[in-house]
Amino acid sequence: MVRPRELPDRARVVIIGGGVGGASIAHHLATLGERDVVLLDRNELTSGSTFHSAGLVGQLRSSVSLTRMMMDSVELYRTLDCSWVECGGIRLACTPEREQEVMRQVAWAKTFGLPLELITPERAAELFPLMDTAGVRCASYLPSDGYLDPSLLTTALVDGARAGGCRVFTHTLVTAIDLDETVPGHPRVCGVQTEWGRIEAEVVVDAGGMFAAEIGRMAGVRVPIVPFAHEYLVTQPFRETGSGAGRVHLPTLRDPDLLIYFREEGGGLVMGGYERDSAPWALDERDLDAIPPDFNGRLLEEDWPRFEEIARNSAKRVPVMDEITVTRLINGPEAFTPDNEFCLGESEVGGFFVAAGFCAHGLAGAGGIGRVMAEWILDGEPSMDVWEMDIRRFGPHFRSPSYTLKRAREVYETYYDIRYPGHERQAGRPLRTSSAYPWHAEHGAAFGEKSGWERVNWYEGNAGEGDEALRPRGWAGMHWSPAIGAEHRGTRERAGLFDESSFAKLEISGPGAATFLEQVCDNRVAREVGAITYTQMLNRRGGIECDFTVTRVEEELFSIVTGTAFGNHDLSWIRRHAPTDGSVRCADVTARWSCFALWGPRARDILEPISSSGLDFGYMRMGELAVGDVPVRALRVTFVGELGWELYCPSEYGAGLWRALWRAGAEHGVIAGGYRAIDSMRLEKGYRVWAADITPDETPFEAGLGFCVRKDGGFMGAEALGLGEGSGAPEPPARRLRCVVLEDPRSVALGNEPVRVDGEVLGRVTSGGYGYTVERSIAYAYLPSEVALGTLVEVDIFGRWVSGEVTAEPLYDPKGERVKD
Ligand SMILES: Cc1cc2nc3c(=O)[nH]c(=O)nc-3n(C[C@H](O)[C@H](O)[C@H](O)COP(=O)(O)OP(=O)(O)OC[C@H]3O[C@@H](n4cnc5c(N)ncnc54)[C@H](O)[C@@H]3O)c2cc1C
Repeated sequence: MVRPRELPDRARVVIIGGGVGGASIAHHLATLGERDVVLLDRNELTSGSTFHSAGLVGQLRSSVSLTRMMMDSVELYRTLDCSWVECGGIRLACTPEREQEVMRQVAWAKTFGLPLELITPERAAELFPLMDTAGVRCASYLPSDGYLDPSLLTTALVDGARAGGCRVFTHTLVTAIDLDETVPGHPRVCGVQTEWGRIEAEVVVDAGGMFAAEIGRMAGVRVPIVPFAHEYLVTQPFRETGSGAGRVHLPTLRDPDLLIYFREEGGGLVMGGYERDSAPWALDERDLDAIPPDFNGRLLEEDWPRFEEIARNSAKRVPVMDEITVTRLINGPEAFTPDNEFCLGESEVGGFFVAAGFCAHGLAGAGGIGRVMAEWILDGEPSMDVWEMDIRRFGPHFRSPSYTLKRAREVYETYYDIRYPGHERQAGRPLRTSSAYPWHAEHGAAFGEKSGWERVNWYEGNAGEGDEALRPRGWAGMHWSPAIGAEHRGTRERAGLFDESSFAKLEISGPGAATFLEQVCDNRVAREVGAITYTQMLNRRGGIECDFTVTRVEEELFSIVTGTAFGNHDLSWIRRHAPTDGSVRCADVTARWSCFALWGPRARDILEPISSSGLDFGYMRMGELAVGDVPVRALRVTFVGELGWELYCPSEYGAGLWRALWRAGAEHGVIAGGYRAIDSMRLEKGYRVWAADITPDETPFEAGLGFCVRKDGGFMGAEALGLGEGSGAPEPPARRLRCVVLEDPRSVALGNEPVRVDGEVLGRVTSGGYGYTVERSIAYAYLPSEVALGTLVEVDIFGRWVSGEVTAEPLYDPKGERVKD
């Protein structure tokens, strides 16, 4: 029988969920000295997904931040009483493409100290003698991978938390979350209601695993996760393992081409995988999670038919699987997100944090997740770039459960597939379309998708004007078309017309808007009406949190244009720092405006005759005019380095404006172009892209954006940059973003490749591509500041060190004469 709980009246932080996630956050809050923490679970600790985890801890993930978090986990697990076995992990490559993937990963790992080795099939078999090496071409081996006991880990984490003052209450169901909504537009969490009473709290953390969406709804926050059934089997013991010092461990083994993984379990094996036919679980008729209220400490029915392919495959790689008895098939639910990465951070409700959606790598991630979350809660921001895991990457379109389900299904079912650069996901498309979408579709657009938007990558019809001989080698040439070069050249030589309606557009208004923006932007943005400023917003470490242009449209109205995927993130950053006295209003107006860019030497000839007034308002200025029959806000800006305008009109006029521009451009040879051509041109001009070239981990000085920064300080992050009254000149940065030009134009860097100087790896490519005007393969990378212009470097492209040179930038039109023409 469960006795009533005597809960405290208040706590600074209340964590909901006593799985490995909640436990780790509690542990790290205690480590950082926060004693006023309460951890609640509606049942026993670990009784959600944690108790039935297979316990593998693999560290290799798709990005440096994610992998670093897993490395943090391993460092922590080594110190805890959790049956940690550091047995190493093997990942096999059985196709030429997989071999290339492994080579890329091994090269990339060198750039941040992950000890990933490339090994032969023979070496893999030595390490995992039960394996049949048929078809294996090579493998990677990570000696520091391992496995552990999930329940022991959770208990050890909770013990650490308790020792640091955390109070833990099991069998305490949270039934509601209290919000303080006295400040319009700034809701804040202020407590939780439980079956045993209320606890007042400044911060509430939703670490509810697959229940996290349900808990989020109590606060009016959408947590886009879907519970999926996930299976693995356990065999009877069948081999001698030795004991004590003589105990030899099998490494974990993953064979992604066969969709399977293994780890030892005493003298037996644990084997699981990712089924091609996924099984979302406990969804209601609207596809919303509806987990039974008594689902704790429980598993699902064995589902052998769905596991059959995995079971068959396992015997191909480990033939003994055909002979040994399976003792259990574990089928348990787990929360998956629509992109298979964690869902972390502070939500739109102040003080309401989420740490959920661990996508079957929650054990591996928990140590790192706990640290990041504790920092975020106590310092207001994490100490590293966690954009790929940030809850803000999920825009409002993920409020739809059916859309979330479609995306989550696709990523689950293709979990082990190689994701080639430029590969586009298909589920749930088309969702968000621009006013000119029908025109693009009729004209053979190859669409890509970003944040639910259909965006033109290129038009197939332009391929004939391009040059097939320029196709990059290897992966970079897979999702590629000669049209990209044609659209690039057409823009540089004549004019290009681009649909950028998906750009996120934010409005900051009110009597306090100018003062506020001056406090959070590193550039001077409160200039005269009509002025456009390129700026960043920095975090307290001086890292680049947002990067965009701001137009002062009216005395008290500023318009921000930022990347398609960053609107939600930037808006929430702005809201978080905006005054709450009603003097500043913030709104996302993306859908209200279509945006078409007309760039190129003929842009003026095209636009002038159909404009109601002159275009002489100058570079980085805004003009209000009519184009044909359409009222337009014209911004004289460029992201390709050519003369031109971004033309904004209310969306209902969009189709008409596009047609008017297209018609007017015909006699001047205008070409309609897509994002891939834009990317090639922006590389030639050295324009940075947030989340690739610049992130919260880099300062504007490191990124070569010092020209934006007000040297007298007075904005957020200035102190970290050494700016402000009496602080003298800032320290020169220790590393800088450099432009590298590769000797072989067909070898194109895709991002993450190591860069070495005199045989020593000193950096990693942030973004790369081919410049069709400069006719060079271009890569950007952070390198130590001592690496001077003209230094010869090498970039590892699929196992081949390609020579290059650190080169002055921009490569194209360094004086900016074409832009200002
Ligand atoms: C079959 C299977 C195999 C797996 N294998 C691995 C593996 O090998 N390696 C790996 O890294 N990961 C693995 N995972 C994933 C891993 O188990 C999960 O990512 C992890 O356990 C999730 O932890 P959590 O803390 O987010 O959630 P949970 O463990 O589910 O904890 C959430 C807790 O919140 C509590 N709760 C919910 N609602 C309320 C409420 N209203 N009030 C109070 N408490 C509430 C629940 O009772 C629960 O205890 C596997 C998962 C499955 C299903």
